[in-house]
Amino acid sequence: MRAVVYRGVNDLRLETVPVPRIGANELLVKVAVCGVCPTDIKKIQHGTVPPPRIFGHETAGTIVKIGSGNSELRTPNSELRIGDRVALHHHVPCLKCHFCRHASFAQCETYKRTGITAGFEPAGGGYAEFVRVMPFVLPGVVKIPAKNSFAEGAMLEPVNTILKAVRRLNLLPGDAVLVAGQGPIGLMFTKILQLRGIRVLATDLLESRLKLAKKFGAKWVLNASSSGRESAQNSGGKSQSRLTSAATIPTLDCAVIAVPSDDAVTQALQLVRGGGQVLLFAHTKREAGSWKLEAGVPNSQLPTPNFQLDLSTICLDEKDLIGSYSSDFTLQAEVARLVFSRRLDVRPLITHHFPLEQTAAAVALASRPTEDSLKIVVEP
Ligand SMILES: [Zn+2]
Ligand SMILES: [Zn+2]
Repeated sequence: MRAVVYRGVNDLRLETVPVPRIGANELLVKVAVCGVCPTDIKKIQHGTVPPPRIFGHETAGTIVKIGSGNSELRTPNSELRIGDRVALHHHVPCLKCHFCRHASFAQCETYKRTGITAGFEPAGGGYAEFVRVMPFVLPGVVKIPAKNSFAEGAMLEPVNTILKAVRRLNLLPGDAVLVAGQGPIGLMFTKILQLRGIRVLATDLLESRLKLAKKFGAKWVLNASSSGRESAQNSGGKSQSRLTSAATIPTLDCAVIAVPSDDAVTQALQLVRGGGQVLLFAHTKREAGSWKLEAGVPNSQLPTPNFQLDLSTICLDEKDLIGSYSSDFTLQAEVARLVFSRRLDVRPLITHHFPLEQTAAAVALASRPTEDSLKIVVEP
């Protein structure tokens, strides 16, 4: 079969590899759609994991084979048959360990294993024609209703990560929340918050995205560059008061930072009310050196982190700085209802479809969004 193999930093190659062999209680799924996810882009561009691997984990497709020659397979959540259209989940927690009992699923040892592969070290495998689904991730397989597309199925995983994050926020209907960044993730935050009666202030640098944010339920939109464009030019491209200079900023109860910008965090911490929350969603790249104590290197020689925080903001003003990463498996049924009912309609978010052989171009576009690009998918 054809697969796009990661061979090193920024080196994705279309290769011919064997169709994965499956064992008892496993599935072979023909991939229809796989979303391009920022976490994979980070691995491809920064080489944070050793090659070779086949990435792609936002996968939907059709079951073409069930282990031991069976024609159906019972899982804790459903009965799967050959021909079923399904959305896959590559990480599933054990739900029993110390971490899981504290709902810290992303720290669970079972969760950290990747249960879907197209070959090599399991890494999702969605950038290939077929994937093998291992038994421990079967509880994460969700059937796609006939009226919904494969692409909608492939969005369950990112939507899950957003719903998990929203549940960390201490919100009441009518509250005002800043969502910084209106890419596909930010737009879905905007919609999910609006569905909960939250008034959303959406910011982005691209006008096209702010227009869409309105359609996704934002009450206010603000171009994060325009209000401070002159001062941005005066201060060498950096504006400290882009948001504060706008007239209509409501009192903010929370801020969701869906862009990997430290300035946005600093501003958000100033803007939220006492007792409010700032949630980090896009700060997934570790600062090389600043958090890692390297053997033999004195502390004074390590690079200083570029983010400064007055800790009294947390103590005196009781503002919470929190993070959320990855998905919460227990929310999967709610996520499926939200997407498949189209209360959260993800279809307008999927702007580009690439064939498998153009996966490298898909990754390049996803990493440098344009006015008209949002979610990008590969269709093997
Ligand atoms: Zn993802
Ligand atoms: Zn666990």
